[in-house]
Amino acid sequence: MVQNKEGDVIPVIGLEVHVQLETDTKIFCGCSTKEGVEPNVNVCPVCLGLPGSLPTLNEAAVRGAVKIGKAIGADISKETSFHRKNYFYPDLPKGFQITQYDEPICTEGEIEINVEGNRKRIRIERAHLEEDPGSLQHVSEGRGKEDYVLVDYNRAGIPLVEIVTEPDLRAPKEVRLFLAKLEEDLEFLGVFNSNRDGSLRADANVSLIRIADVNEDGTIDKKILQSAERIEIKNISSYKGAEKALVYEISRQKNTIMHGGEIKQETRHWDENRGITTPMRSKETEGDYRYFTEFDLPILSGEWWDEYIKNIDIPELPEAKRNRFYEEYMLTEEVAAKLTSTKDVSEFYELVVEEFDPDFAARWVADIILGELNYRDIDIGDVESRLDEFRRLIAYVAGGKITEKNARSIVLRRMLDEGSSPEEILDQEELEVSDDKEVRDFVLEVIEENKDAVADYERGESNAMNYLVGQVMVKTKGNANPAFINQILKEIIENGGGEKKELQ
Ligand SMILES: [Zn+2]
Repeated sequence: MVQNKEGDVIPVIGLEVHVQLETDTKIFCGCSTKEGVEPNVNVCPVCLGLPGSLPTLNEAAVRGAVKIGKAIGADISKETSFHRKNYFYPDLPKGFQITQYDEPICTEGEIEINVEGNRKRIRIERAHLEEDPGSLQHVSEGRGKEDYVLVDYNRAGIPLVEIVTEPDLRAPKEVRLFLAKLEEDLEFLGVFNSNRDGSLRADANVSLIRIADVNEDGTIDKKILQSAERIEIKNISSYKGAEKALVYEISRQKNTIMHGGEIKQETRHWDENRGITTPMRSKETEGDYRYFTEFDLPILSGEWWDEYIKNIDIPELPEAKRNRFYEEYMLTEEVAAKLTSTKDVSEFYELVVEEFDPDFAARWVADIILGELNYRDIDIGDVESRLDEFRRLIAYVAGGKITEKNARSIVLRRMLDEGSSPEEILDQEELEVSDDKEVRDFVLEVIEENKDAVADYERGESNAMNYLVGQVMVKTKGNANPAFINQILKEIIENGGGEKKELQ
């Protein structure tokens, strides 16, 4: 395919995303998946591929894959089996990787992304279970030259789900949005931990297709896709990296075409540090892998399998939750998004909103508590045992026991910095809101002392009211509710203004 102008083509992108399932043990043996340990300690005869050892399927990994399938609206296969994918590489002790081939656990799903306000459906071709290989560490003893390679089998046998999309993505930015959405859903499912190193890795296929070959509905005929030269980019380890790698690769291909060169089908490596892709090897074909059935593992099928799939439930996903918060609690989209940013935050909000007004609860959870936590670099999950203390503090504010200002700037901060309970702090500090009688006396004093401002207010200057409220706040040393002062001020001024009329 030779083009003269770069504007004549658009990128067609498909992804293979490898997701590490959050399990305690590996997929085919009982070895721990714990990170941050010495190399080659989480190993056994099975994951080292020693002769005579046999794999056992980890039920937690199967459950995680079914959950992912349900979350992406995929069909969970009535029958699913494992295959051996043969290739020789030092990180693969058995000489083959156990994966799934013609009977993957999930087929035909979809993920919807929001591209500048428009919904876009990205079809998922399949999702299957497989084991991760080990990891290689290239060592240089100086001058940048690689002297030797070390291999660590701690990762060998870590459970992965590989999610394969149809080539429905049309821009690097869409890839970023897709991966971010996927990651968010996976975290809510509780099957994935984005803090783990290498927990989400992607390979991207990209071809340039003539705009003239794109159908009106945005689809592209299979024949055209098959004849296009496809470049596969390996080693993308984050969704921001994915966008960068594709921006680079697409402009490289366009430049090659513009200068009369040709794009050849190949596999390229994304070099995150240098921000470029480099040629790796010509892409293997399926035949090179000599797939054959892994007879040491059971085929999952039959009545018990149907029943097993049926009994796996998934929680409400972030987008559905966001829409529900928006509708049910009448929050703005921005606040609803903040409150569903993580599962823990959304659960805390739902706990608080049971008792209080939705807007008030949202301000306390999204702005005040999250704000103070973020400032201290604490996740809400880290203070799970104290959520009831936060709820009690919010109740004191709602009940008028203390002002919002003091609750935030004194009590909440001390709670977080000293670990005290709200009651302990309330006992130590004099923060109880002034009673009605006291506030009314201060209001009368302020009216007496600020006759000009009262007159301004009566002429319709609303700023004057803010000033008067401020003056009363000063007298109460901040221990009164501004809305309450506002109400009393209006009541007294409208009942005769500065004539110091006694109301009680
Ligand atoms: Zn093992």
